[in-house]
Amino acid sequence: MCGIIGYVGKRNAVPVLLYGLQRLEYRGYDSAGIAVIENSGNKIVVEKQVGKIKDLQEHMWGKKIEGHTAIGHTRWATHGTPTIENAHPHTSQRGTISIVHNGIIENYLELKEKLIKKGYKFRSETDTEVIAHLFEDLYTGDLLETAFKVAEKLDGAYAVGVVSTYEPDRIIAIKKGSPLIIGLGKDENFIASDIPAVLEYTKDFIALEDGEIALVTKDRVEVYNPEGKKLEKKPFHVTWDVSVAEKAGYKHFMQKEIHEQPRTVGDTITGFSSSKDEKLFEMLKDINRLYIIACGTSYHAALVGKFWIERFAKIPVEVDYASEFRYRDRIIDDRTAILGISQSGETADTRFALLDAKKEGAKAMERL
Ligand code: GLU
Repeated sequence: MCGIIGYVGKRNAVPVLLYGLQRLEYRGYDSAGIAVIENSGNKIVVEKQVGKIKDLQEHMWGKKIEGHTAIGHTRWATHGTPTIENAHPHTSQRGTISIVHNGIIENYLELKEKLIKKGYKFRSETDTEVIAHLFEDLYTGDLLETAFKVAEKLDGAYAVGVVSTYEPDRIIAIKKGSPLIIGLGKDENFIASDIPAVLEYTKDFIALEDGEIALVTKDRVEVYNPEGKKLEKKPFHVTWDVSVAEKAGYKHFMQKEIHEQPRTVGDTITGFSSSKDEKLFEMLKDINRLYIIACGTSYHAALVGKFWIERFAKIPVEVDYASEFRYRDRIIDDRTAILGISQSGETADTRFALLDAKKEGAKAMERL
């Protein structure tokens, strides 16, 4: 789950977004992009790039894009490789609605099939793109009203920002399971997945709760519960500066990481419980032994994994140092599964141990 920012106000949104996206870089991401409602109001300009925000900036160098309503995103791919096509924002078929999304849409395959039958053409491998087409398909003439209809169809965890040429002076924000806040300014407002993205511009915020949907214009913020009832949300004020905000008020990054563990574990589990893992579940159905191979810190994580897997799945688990596993006589057959854990995906011993085990008939599936 990565970063979202949105701006609606008097300034040119482009530098605001690029600056905000840079403030989200500390979260890690693989690609980035922005969608701007150009000043004329009848066109959405989308710019995306794989790599860093500076690559996106270089790619946009010299292009004169100006608009007062825009959304931006840093992507951490869950569905589809990091490519320009898969980077967000994603735009509806007629080019009238653009969206950014953090999280995972669990039922995207089912929604995609239905949309394809209706004639929608998909340009990416993401789960996210269904949201853009759904918005166009269900558009009632009112973006806010449509957001309720779209949210009803989505299963999973998501924070979504939406802009449209139909209603060029507003952003719609939807939150369920992934963080989303609204930054309050004077003659301008923001949406963001994390406070640092907009802290340069405001220190006053409204936090959206799961199921809530917001309408944000330059001088108005309305928040609704899932049943469409308008809520009185109390704004909160932060006194942090950007460097403190990146540490979310904690003294050190280490302290922050410790306190973030519930969110991180939640994000990770969400990432692995999506429908594309049906293949993985199918593959693991009949196993009777699991080796977890790892090195260093990953080895310690594996020991915790052994504890939980043996308790819940009742499958014997052996945890091995990858460097030792490679060179010993291990017992492997087609009911053995191998799980390699690596922080970078590049630990040589773990990679080679996995390859060797695969050759010997073990079930192995690669996930980064
Ligand atoms: N699931 C989406 C994708 O793969 C969103 C990823 C994110 O949260 O950055 O594009």
